[in-house]
Amino acid sequence: MSQSDPPAAIKRLGQNFLIDPNIVRKIVASAALCSNDSVLEIGPGRGILTEALCQTAGRVTAIEVDPRLHAYLSERQTKFPHLTLILDDAMTFPLETLPSGTVVVANLPYYISTPLLFRLLKHRDRFPRMVLMLQNEVADRLVAKPGTPDYGLLSVMAQYAADITKVFKVSANCFRPRPNVGSAVVLLQAKQRRELSPKEEPAFTALVKAAFAHRRKTLVNSLKDEGYDQTLWAETLESCGLSPTVRAEVISISQFIELSRRIAP
Ligand code: SAM
Repeated sequence: MSQSDPPAAIKRLGQNFLIDPNIVRKIVASAALCSNDSVLEIGPGRGILTEALCQTAGRVTAIEVDPRLHAYLSERQTKFPHLTLILDDAMTFPLETLPSGTVVVANLPYYISTPLLFRLLKHRDRFPRMVLMLQNEVADRLVAKPGTPDYGLLSVMAQYAADITKVFKVSANCFRPRPNVGSAVVLLQAKQRRELSPKEEPAFTALVKAAFAHRRKTLVNSLKDEGYDQTLWAETLESCGLSPTVRAEVISISQFIELSRRIAP
């Protein structure tokens, strides 16, 4: 390999590189960037999206875990004005060091897309807008409504934190190597107002996790298995206008919020 050849893809790091400039353009357009925006890219890879972001935004910070790709991009740094390259793991990098108002734009490594998404949403006060490519199946769960098969823990927690739109689907042919799954780009806009206070949020998160822990069971039985006091529930459900045999998958986010307030100590 000559010094300028791009490093070969490592499957376990989710390295499916975009090769379609049209998709890159559509991703950047979805982020509606202006010249004074700061952008965070997770996993710049060989830099196809990084370059387009650098042409549009004022400042780009790109965190890459693979030292070979970090070195490859560093060699080309002159091609990437306004770029800060960081060799680190996006799961542990201190996101609080990034400026408030940073827009996140990334083709995420799929093997950690869900934990990364949760991590980014935890820092949503800093990230008002995120345009993320992830597995189509995860995108469907992110936008799923109550009473549909895709609705679950991820839908409730993400929709509690952000307004989410599935922007477009992306064929596996737009990547090399081709991923085994279809992909989609989603836009997440952090909600300006928090329905629950930071003190109330842990009870809400715990309730939603317990509610979806045993999908086939009724809400009451699932919660009982997770250590919640069953005797309190009949009354609480009734006061929220819900049947005693209701299942978690039909409960809306506002109903989960209401339930968590009512059972709070
Ligand atoms: N942005 C490039 C593109 O669109 O072609 C590459 C996207 S590829 C799907 C995911 C990238 O994330 C790879 O470059 C991979 O090395 C990087 N990556 C994987 N795990 C990571 C982690 N924990 N932190 C930061 N980057 C990671």
